[in-house]
Amino acid sequence: MEQISVSPLSQKAIRQIARKFRKMFDMENVLYFPIVQFIEWCLPELGMEYEIVEVGEMKNAYGVTHTGKGIMQIREDTYVGACEGKPRNRFTLSHELGHFLLHTPDRVSFARGKVPAYMNAEWQANTFAAELMAPYYLIYNMSVEEISRGCGMSYTASKIQYSKYHG
Ligand SMILES: [Zn+2]
Repeated sequence: MEQISVSPLSQKAIRQIARKFRKMFDMENVLYFPIVQFIEWCLPELGMEYEIVEVGEMKNAYGVTHTGKGIMQIREDTYVGACEGKPRNRFTLSHELGHFLLHTPDRVSFARGKVPAYMNAEWQANTFAAELMAPYYLIYNMSVEEISRGCGMSYTASKIQYSKYHG
């Protein structure tokens, strides 16, 4: 079976990209990453448009990013939730931003058989989202609870991020 495969990126490489990206927009030391404002104000600067799609028109996904066309589609309930600061929805938007930055068409191909995590687009986008929302250099001495509250990330995602640094 053919699988989508993307150019390999390690956890460490993705962490560096997320940090550079925060720096680019002068947000290196902002604990609570303002993902909604970022998508509204900064995404257009990067040549990407976003579109809010009704739930009925987008039943099976919370967000879809078409890097080739430069469009990020966000399901309405996800967008509203993110505006209200719901951690799950904030994570989805950060995940889509990861696809936009990491998965330009030249980095996507097809592979036979099982694709390892570091070449899996979803793994990369999830890793990017976690590194953007809760970067190591800001959270290394925080508890899971503090990461979750401070970064606006779900307890589960915060716990996963925490465990990466406290093996
Ligand atoms: Zn995805």
